[in-house]
Amino acid sequence: MARAGELVYETLQLCGEALEPGISMLELDRIAEEHLRSKGGVPTSKGYKGFPAALCISPNSMVVHGIPNAYVAREGDVISLDLGVTLDGLVADSCVTLGVGEISPEAQRLLDVCQDALAAGIEQAQPGNRLSDISHAIQVVVEDAGFSVVRALVGHGVGRSYHEDPQIPNYGPPGRGPLLQEGMTLAIEPMITAGGPEVFVHDDAWSISSVDESLAAHFEHTVAITADGPRVLTKPLEVSAAKPPAPGQETEPPPATPGAGAALLR
Ligand code: MG
Repeated sequence: MARAGELVYETLQLCGEALEPGISMLELDRIAEEHLRSKGGVPTSKGYKGFPAALCISPNSMVVHGIPNAYVAREGDVISLDLGVTLDGLVADSCVTLGVGEISPEAQRLLDVCQDALAAGIEQAQPGNRLSDISHAIQVVVEDAGFSVVRALVGHGVGRSYHEDPQIPNYGPPGRGPLLQEGMTLAIEPMITAGGPEVFVHDDAWSISSVDESLAAHFEHTVAITADGPRVLTKPLEVSAAKPPAPGQETEPPPATPGAGAALLR
């Protein structure tokens, strides 16, 4: 799952780099599918209950499950890119919401709060906690900021299948639900709006948007619960300790370049 997760991360990075004013949603989907297949992955969403694409792309007031189409990104849009990849029979699932060019301060705050809520939820993914400790932590961050949790949509278990038990609401009192145990793998995903929590399903039977047309944000990681706490799988694999150089191959260490690679490792 960690290897599937790294491929999800890599693919979303690539799409994020391509997301500029003028690019179409179909083109982003093509970039994603081409890359992940080139690394031996399979787009989990493609064909899942009939969904036609690799990426779910949801612009602005659309919360989730947007079908990539001819829509062209415009300066100031916020667009969520949600991707599942199956690699060697195991699934990882992640989502980012990105601004196109310059976005409004309120839109930026919405994205920041959604990421903070995800981090707070992940922090609760500890052996011995209860499932709703995750839910509650997310709700507190979102609602303290004056935003709304979309209650009709939930996170989920993930592993051999895209969507496994348990469902993970992004609200609720702490201390309820299943005991979290080492070895569980969860897709934790706050879906929030800058307005009210109500959503509707479009005529395509997939896309879901906020009823009041307020901006939406969605961040997601696949997280494994380990004895040492949560391990986020949808980010770069940890580099193992460098081996000592073979005799005769010692080299001068490269000069330190502060900040190099920071964008990828954040
Ligand atoms: Mg998910």
